Amino acid sequence: MRGLMQEWPLLCHTIIDHAARNHPDRRIATRSVEGPIVSTTYGAVRQRALKVAQRLAGMSIRAGDRVGTLAWNTARHMEVWYGITGVGAIYHTVNPRLFHDQITYIINHAEDRLLFLDLNFVEQVEKLAETLKTVEAFIVLTDRENMPDTSLKNAICYEDWVTGADGDFAWVEVDENAGCGICYTSGTTGHPKGVVYSHRSNVLHALSVNMADFFGCSVKDVVMPVVPMFHANGWSLAFSAPMAGSEMVMPGRNLDGESLCSLINEFGVTMSAGVPTVWLGLQHYLQETGKKMPSLRRLVIGGSAVPFSSIRFFEEEQDAHVLHAWGMTEMSPIGTFGSLKPEYAALPREERYAVQTKQGHSLYTVEMKITDDDGNRLPWDGKTFGRLKCKGPAVAKAYFKGEGGEVLDAEGFFDTGDVATIDENGYMNITDRAKDVIKSGGEWISSIELENLAVGHPDVAEAAVIGLHHPKWDERPLLVIVAKDGKSPAKEDILGFMTDKVAKWWLPDDIVFVDEIPPTATGKIQKTELRKQFADYTLPTVDGPR
Ligand code: ADP
Repeated sequence: MRGLMQEWPLLCHTIIDHAARNHPDRRIATRSVEGPIVSTTYGAVRQRALKVAQRLAGMSIRAGDRVGTLAWNTARHMEVWYGITGVGAIYHTVNPRLFHDQITYIINHAEDRLLFLDLNFVEQVEKLAETLKTVEAFIVLTDRENMPDTSLKNAICYEDWVTGADGDFAWVEVDENAGCGICYTSGTTGHPKGVVYSHRSNVLHALSVNMADFFGCSVKDVVMPVVPMFHANGWSLAFSAPMAGSEMVMPGRNLDGESLCSLINEFGVTMSAGVPTVWLGLQHYLQETGKKMPSLRRLVIGGSAVPFSSIRFFEEEQDAHVLHAWGMTEMSPIGTFGSLKPEYAALPREERYAVQTKQGHSLYTVEMKITDDDGNRLPWDGKTFGRLKCKGPAVAKAYFKGEGGEVLDAEGFFDTGDVATIDENGYMNITDRAKDVIKSGGEWISSIELENLAVGHPDVAEAAVIGLHHPKWDERPLLVIVAKDGKSPAKEDILGFMTDKVAKWWLPDDIVFVDEIPPTATGKIQKTELRKQFADYTLPTVDGPR
């Protein structure tokens, strides 16, 4: 017998419809790319998204067509997303920090028919325009007053384009399993691969990640998505926050500590989310200025492992609860959150922070397992580590155009490429990316753990650990450090700080100081670059004892 409930397809436009119906006047403030802070509401965003959809239909954009966006987090970018999905087309977020040939590759691979771009990317795109084979027109996200002269073919001024439509349009109803968004993996090895989200996966993921132990967005929240919408589906915040009716603050292009602190305090931001490097920048700014952010209640940090020292700083100095999140583009993207189960509530502070450094327990929509190299399941004992694999309605089952071939195991699980433990309480802890783990004498050393320890030293701004070849042990760790401005810590001092905090044989064989650690396009440590940089480096231990 079938159930007798209504079939109400889980389509993205239902989210903005809901927000506009129930929270029409809730504010979305944006630090615009042009400069000033501007405000709009869910009611207005829906109305303009309908106009975007109407205009797109008028340009013969049809269900399944891909439309690129190269833009920061702004209300405009959000209404463009809803407009694209509302006509049944597929938003393709392009990361402006990618190399030019990667941008060309992914736009051509996705066959984007149009490209929406922020004002400050016009020059960059002019240089690439010739190589973009499928793009028919470029829509610059600005008004007439700020519209630049440009050599881009069929350049359109967004505000003229959108305000010229009357909005008398009905959303195009597609199947809930139809694609609605594409995000490419960053492709640190090989070409980037396209992950295709469906309406259903986006809606389910947004619902799931909104539960109280995860984002927990509510009508009382002021949510500031710092993670850019072009990084891993914007961590779903463009769906989760409107779904909950939260007020939003969109930070635009300025993600430095001062800009973020001033937005948080001006708008009373209660919850924000982004990668550790951005929050380290904010942390340093707050430490230097002694400023406080009294409104901030929850700080979601993910994308790479959160240093213990950041957890302690935000919890103790800013009274903000740090939620450590793990996920990946292929998972829509959130998989786990380190929110504290009651088992840990009574722990002394430092022990609680140690639990919070784990990546945490999974969302309802994510099933996890760890396996050995032969695919056998390993126990959840917090000690045994293995390949982390996931399954669920918002986890990829293949890449766009079949790149990468079959990606699921016999039980339908996706291999995340991470190595992890899972403990008795279901807390997953990433040991490392499979390709970054340091294999020393048949044992594994977690580069993440060493990095987190090193940044806890008061003079260290950033740290990265890579494995270098060692004739006796296979690989040994090299610690690469960027010192804080004006500081020049001694190697012995840093090693002394790390001693006793990890097993002795984990300690790096050497430390080098650099001015900069190369970041990836998503703000993580670019280990491939570091490995190249130190390819010829000889560890001082090569001829001596470990
Ligand atoms: P990119 O390749 O651009 O970093 P993703 O955002 O998809 O793209 O990266 C996903 C990977 O980032 C994960 O597989 C994992 O290795 C790493 N990662 C994400 N969150 C965390 C975290 N909280 N702790 C450690 N590693 C993380």
